[in-house]
This record gives sequence, structure tokens and C-alpha cells, in this order.
Amino acid sequence: MTQLVACGSRFLALAPALALALACAAAAQTAEPTDTVVLTDGKTLAGLVLRQDENEVLLRVGTRDRTIPRASVRSVDSIAARHRLFLNGWRPVPADDAAQLLEMAQAATHARLPHETRLMLWYAALARPKEAAIHELLGNRQQGGRFLVQIDGAWVPFEKADALGEDFGKAWLLRSRHFSIRCAAGLRAALDTLLDLEALYWAMQDLFGKDLKLLEICETIDVRLYRSRQQMPGIGTHVGAVFAADEAALFTCFENGKAFALAHEGTHALLHYLFVRAARSRGALPGWLEEGWAEYMLGRLDTKVPGKPVLRERSEMPGHRAVLAQAARRDDLYTVHRLLNLKSSDFMASSLQDIKYAQAWALFRYLIENGNTQLRASFVDYLREATAGRGQASTFRRIFARQEQQLETEPWKQT
Ligand SMILES: [Zn+2]
Repeated sequence: MTQLVACGSRFLALAPALALALACAAAAQTAEPTDTVVLTDGKTLAGLVLRQDENEVLLRVGTRDRTIPRASVRSVDSIAARHRLFLNGWRPVPADDAAQLLEMAQAATHARLPHETRLMLWYAALARPKEAAIHELLGNRQQGGRFLVQIDGAWVPFEKADALGEDFGKAWLLRSRHFSIRCAAGLRAALDTLLDLEALYWAMQDLFGKDLKLLEICETIDVRLYRSRQQMPGIGTHVGAVFAADEAALFTCFENGKAFALAHEGTHALLHYLFVRAARSRGALPGWLEEGWAEYMLGRLDTKVPGKPVLRERSEMPGHRAVLAQAARRDDLYTVHRLLNLKSSDFMASSLQDIKYAQAWALFRYLIENGNTQLRASFVDYLREATAGRGQASTFRRIFARQEQQLETEPWKQT
């Protein structure tokens, strides 16, 4: 109780500033946020920073993308950089510490990240469901000593809102910088899932951004989180999650306390937005690469703490290792040639499905994590070709012509 009062008064001091900043943030939401690049000659350019590294800054102004040499740039202020920094700050914050969450909400507001401000406030509301000031900042209503939140246009008591998700049409709707979610598994699951996905987004950028010159995703990726497999429409109970490219939406369900296969499907979603959609539809990636990449990211993230994935040193998938060992003993392994030629539909087929996924993961992992920098560089070359629509088996064989024998055996052996 003491702590509650102490935190409460600390919060009240923050409240007016936060409320004002929130109002400004809401106004800013109506237009695409404007980044600025200040040049060494003093000129300021406004637009959206799509990418920056030590050599150049790529700025989108209207429909035109402009590459500016780093030497001509004095400073850059971008929403992408502020968002990344914010997520780093979020990682050590306990999700039930209202005072720290409110400080994070304020930090998000200062960083002009209106969606993240609200996510932090919702976490704070869960930590302290009876605190009027938090509900007020969220725009919730107070009525007869209870707080009402808006779900699908209707005002419902906060404590009953999660239960409405039995009807998916009455699920929570929330947003983060890159994702929007409709979630029938409760508010906490929605918050954790959005932050898990944002962490995945930056993990992809950290691991591949420089080599593949990845751009910032400016569209919002649609996510639908169902409360159970049974609730998922038209997909069937045998599939727990899918990224539907035709609808550009990620469907998954809540299972064992988290969104099922989130990093796997989230990677499919990011690959779609980064390469197929954002790069003006150059075609899908080969099946093995899609699945290998998705499994790689799933194994690379330690997701023990909801909403706060940690990047592991290497991709760890003990289940795949066991499958590979057994397949090797039974002589069931696919040749690299066959693996490269598997179609996406082959990965859906139940026959030897576990071996296909395990080999796709193992080949991707072997090449990207290889201590031989030459081999890794060759794989990056292949990824550049593949993400530009030239990922055919012939491209792979040309690039790895000298490693043909090695790749037939080594990737499946790793311990
Ligand atoms: Zn997949």
C-alpha cells in the first residue's frame, strides 16, 4: 500500500506534462512523421529516413528516394532510430511496475512515438487497474467508480473487456510502430505480442540490415491473434499460425501462454514487406529460404520473457537437431539439390515435413553463422540475389560451386 501511494504521487506529477504531450502526439499521428537530415552546408531536408549506415543516408521525400553521402550529413533525426532506442530502454522495465511504465510512456512521447506511449499506458493500466489518471490518459471513461474502455465502438468495463474476445469481432485493437493487432486473447497478450514483433523487426534489421541494405518498413503489418486454434477461421486446427501473403496478414493463436510460432510467421511477414511488397514485387523467395530463414529467426530469439525477446548468439533449435540426427541414421536426408527445389507447398505436405524444415534451418544457419568469412560472404551474395527475385537453385549452385561436397554433409552435422 505504501508503495502504491508513493508511486501514485510520483505519477501525478508527471500527468499534466504527459497529457499535453499525448495530445500533441495524437495530432502528429494524422500525418506521416517527418524525419530531418541536416547537411554540412546547413541545409535541412525533411522526409522519411529509410536507411542509414556509415556510408550514406537514404531519405524519401514525397515519392522520391534520395541517397545522401554520409560525408555531407551533419545530423539525422529519424523515427526509426528513436524507436529502436526506445525498445532498448523497454527491455529492462518490469511489465508490472506502473511507475517505470509511466516513465516509459513519457519517454515514448518525447521520442514522438504515439503508439508506444499508449502501449506503455495500457501496461500501466494492467498494473494499476484502478488508477484514474492512467485511464484518463488513455481516453477511457469513468462511470460509477469503474472504468470503461472502447471495444469495437462500445464502451465496456475494463475488467470485462478481455472476455469479449470470445467473439473475434469484439477483440482488442492496438498498434505499435510497425504492427497493428486484433487480439482475442486479452490485453496483455496483445501488448506482449506487439512488442515481441517489434523486437523481431529490429533483430532482422540488426542481423541483415547492413548486408542487404534493408529499408525501414513504412506500412503497418496486420496481425490477428485468436484465443485458441479452434477460433481461427478457415485455417483448420492443424495449422497454428500462418502469414497469408494475399491478405498481407499474420494469423496466429494463443497457446502455452504466447502467440504460437510468432517469430516464424513474423519473419515471413517481414520478408514479404521487405522484399516482395516493398521492393515492388520481384517475386517470392524460394521455399527452402523462406522456411529456413523463418526457423532461423525463431531459434535466434530467446522469448522466455513475454514482450522482451533477447537475441541469442546462434540459432538454437534442439528439435531440429534431433530430427537431423535421426534422419542421418536412417539415410532419410534430402540432397541439397532436392532441398533447393522444394516448393512452398512441399513444406505444407505432411510427408517428411519435419526433415524439410530441419534441413532448411540447418542450411541457412550453417551458411550465415559460418566462421569462414568467405563462405558467409558468398551466402550474403546469394541472399542479395534471392531477395531481388533471382534465388533459383541454379544461382545457389553457381555461387557455391566449389563447396558442393561440403554442403551435402556439413550443415546436418553441427552440434
Ligand atoms: Zn513458414
